[in-house]
Formats: sequence, C-alpha cells, structure tokens
Amino acid sequence: MTIHDVVRSAAARGPRAHRRKHGRRGVRPRRTNPSDGTGFARALPSSSLVKMYVTRFAPSPTGPLHLGNALSAFIGWSRAREQGGRFLLRIEDIDTSRCRREHDDAARADLAWLGLDWDGPVLRQSERGAIYAEAIARLRAMGLEYPCFCSRADIAAAASAPHGPAHGADGPVYPGTCRHLSDAERNRRMASEAFAWRLDVAAALAMTGPLAWHDSAAGHVPADPGAAGDIVVGRKQIGVSYHLAVVFDDAAQGVTEVVRGADLFEATHVQRLLQALLGLPTPRYHHHPLLTDSDGRRLAKRDGAPTLAALRAAGVDPATVRAALRQACAAPATPWRLGELAPPSHL
Ligand SMILES: [Zn+2]
Repeated sequence: MTIHDVVRSAAARGPRAHRRKHGRRGVRPRRTNPSDGTGFARALPSSSLVKMYVTRFAPSPTGPLHLGNALSAFIGWSRAREQGGRFLLRIEDIDTSRCRREHDDAARADLAWLGLDWDGPVLRQSERGAIYAEAIARLRAMGLEYPCFCSRADIAAAASAPHGPAHGADGPVYPGTCRHLSDAERNRRMASEAFAWRLDVAAALAMTGPLAWHDSAAGHVPADPGAAGDIVVGRKQIGVSYHLAVVFDDAAQGVTEVVRGADLFEATHVQRLLQALLGLPTPRYHHHPLLTDSDGRRLAKRDGAPTLAALRAAGVDPATVRAALRQACAAPATPWRLGELAPPSHL
C-alpha cells in the first residue's frame, strides 16, 4: 500500500463505534498474555470476536510538535488505517506548570495539516485527576506504596556517593531512602513536608510473580521493572506519575497496541507491572526507531528538530512530509535528510 492508498482509504473512513469496552477485569483475551505467570490472565469471553485495532498518539503540550512527534503519529495512524482500526488522540497535560493550551490547539492543527485524522473524542489527562487519585489510593491500600520525602538533589547525591546506587535510563535510580521509615516518622513528616508516593517494586513483584509483554520487534520481553528502582506513582506537585496515568488511559481508550518511540521501551517494564497490579489489560507494543540527523544524532525538540509549524511556514507540502515519514519507517537506519523537506534556513 502506498502512502496515497493509505490517505485514500483513511478519507473513506469515518469515526466508528467503539465495538468493545476495555480497561476492566474480564475483557482481556488470553492470547495477549500467554502464560506469563501473573495470575492476572483473563479468560476469553465466549462472545469475544477478534479485537479491533486501536492505537493512540499522546503528545504532551509543552511545545510545538516536531518531526520526531510526527513520525510517531504517522506510524500509529498508518497502522490503524491499514487495519481498519481506530487512531485516538490523547493530550498528556498532567503537568500544568509546563503544559499550555495553545500547544494543545497547535498540535491538533498540525496533525490536521499533515492529514492525520483521529477518531472519537480527545482524552485530556488534566480532566482525569480523580481517577488517578483513586488508583494511587488503591495501591496504597494494597500496602505497596510509601511516602518519599527526598528531593531530586537528595537522590542525585546518594547516587553519586561511593558504592551508591546505579543510574538508570531516567537518571539516578532511587536508593530506597524512605522505604524503611517507621510509621511514626512517616506520619510526623507527612504533616509538614511535601512528599511523593513511591511503589515498593520488590513487594509488588512478589505479589504479581514474573511478568512479560510483547514488542513487535523484540518479541516476548520478560518485564524487569526493578531496574528503575522504586518508581514514583504520585508526584509531589502533580499528583500522578506519567506511568500510572498512561496505563489507566491506555485501558480507558481500549488501546490494543501502543505505538511510541524506542526511548520509551524501558518505561514499558514499569507500566506492565502497574497493569498487573491494577487489573488492567496489557496492550501489545510497537517501539519504533527514533529519527536521527545526518550525524546519527537523535532528532528531538531540545536538539532543534524542525517543528511542523516551521515546515508549514516554509511552504513545505504536507504530502512531502508524509512521504518522507513513510520512507523513514521503511528504512529506519537511514538518517533523515532534512534538506529534502526545506532549506535549512527555514528550519
Ligand atoms: Zn525518599
């Protein structure tokens, strides 16, 4: 199927009824969770048909969409349209100190310009605080959370000490400083200090047993959530962590495949654990290679990756951008040649 076929077939399709509800106990086909020993596998209800493909694009409105974002959106949209499924939009705006409504509006306009239409209502995380709070309370009632009073500086200092804890993909791994505080100490400090809720990952894994998930490239992946240390599930100012919000939203939106960049591969270990603890279904995962420039460096917002708005302002045809994105999918090892899209002075 060429890019033009994809566009034509998408245009012929309108939003369609959501055929199945997800995100609850008892709806998950066993085939998506082959004997992973979690005890959370669900029997396939006799009335179940093959699931409709559902994926989502989930930008954070902290700035304009750049080409790296566009690649994720394009891959998800293409996979949904090729399979007659649904492509959903989610705005991940839980961090109200960094997110801006104008970036939310601009992202939708950029997607429309690029010809990527989405199905159904847009989910905004900022409207779901009560749902996330309930989940955090549920994990606490299971005895799997503890309050952490450490600042970033405290954790960095512990990690840099001789024989200190390792650094993970997201920075220093939390050394567990607050895990063993007494109840009296916790209560005293909670009355006067800001704190985050951390998940006791070892205790959680003891409850779930070994877990696994499926990645389109890596295949069967045993989950290793412990590598990140005791993760935060409730943040100090924001109230919910990225991981917790994402697993709840993927379930609520009935996502059957998560399409996102390879930089989030490690996050899947943690999210798989949260799904098991909270009785949520586990989608399949498609972690796509990241765009790189001609020097092999990752193209990201902070590295000056061109924004869709800049390409549009430079008069670039969106069909050209889509063709280039499609080419990037077909040959991910090939560096992205920015010169094909617009003169460097416009980027
Ligand atoms: Zn702590």
